[in-house]
Amino acid sequence: MEEKKTPGLTVTEEPGGMIRKRLLDFDGTLLLDETVLPHDDLIRFTDRTLKEYMRQLNEIEMHSLFAESLDVSEQYYRDAVAKCYAVADSFREDFPEAYFFTRSALDRASENRDDGSALFLLQNGMRMMNAARTLYFTRVRMRNVMEVCFGNTEGMTQRERWEHTVGIYPQLKNYGFSVDGSEEKSSSEHEIKSLMELYIFELCAVLRSGKRIARCQYCWRYFVPKANKKTDYCDRKWSGGSTCKKTGRQARAGTVLPSKTPFPLPPGTSLWRATSPLTPGVILRPCSSSTSARRTRNGGQSRRRSGSWTPSRGR
Ligand SMILES: [Zn+2]
Repeated sequence: MEEKKTPGLTVTEEPGGMIRKRLLDFDGTLLLDETVLPHDDLIRFTDRTLKEYMRQLNEIEMHSLFAESLDVSEQYYRDAVAKCYAVADSFREDFPEAYFFTRSALDRASENRDDGSALFLLQNGMRMMNAARTLYFTRVRMRNVMEVCFGNTEGMTQRERWEHTVGIYPQLKNYGFSVDGSEEKSSSEHEIKSLMELYIFELCAVLRSGKRIARCQYCWRYFVPKANKKTDYCDRKWSGGSTCKKTGRQARAGTVLPSKTPFPLPPGTSLWRATSPLTPGVILRPCSSSTSARRTRNGGQSRRRSGSWTPSRGR
């Protein structure tokens, strides 16, 4: 079968519950072609370190474009846009899916028509910043979904996990992925439109398979239990020879202190807000208490635009 050349991500269900991810860059270059167990890919996403990315986002949020001033500099706008694209590009090697969908969101935001006003620079600067946050939003949401789906559901069937999760996040049904069926199903290809859609696809693939994901009740990491019976602890070994199983049981019995709660979420992001759109490219209100939003509201209408610049794609 001839492979598709259109830019974008396609996922194909392979035998044995594996999925093949194939991503073509905007110029048709093959960026990714890997076959993974969806369980592993979801857990890898949840565990991924985003420290440098968060630093970059913070830098954009603090950018001079959003500072209180009478003039809105086109130079600042151009610089902020370049920084947003730099965020996307920094993922190209290590996390091409995040690169592709962040860049797609930025491209869509940069298509807005410039009416020559100072307000345009501010508002579109905000849109670009939100596009750069694509990965951040996806990760917060997926952690919340994973928490509900796998956090305390050992003992449930895969179908019960799904019902429990869509009971809390009914938006998940909109993706149209099924959790029914078997691994023998004929392989089918899906075009993935967003980073969130990729991980919801993987979540449903996990729930279709016989293997499940559980969360260790000691170290709080997700893992794939080997046994069919209810499994509370992962196989992790700690320095000193202890294991999650051993220390976890002691912690439960009250003879040692429990481990710290993992994955602290930023304040105010513990729930997936029902009003948050799930599709990329739609303007989202910043999750943090953004000073830039306030500045835009206060100063946008009366601020002057300075400098000259012909609208471009910002690259
Ligand atoms: Zn553990």
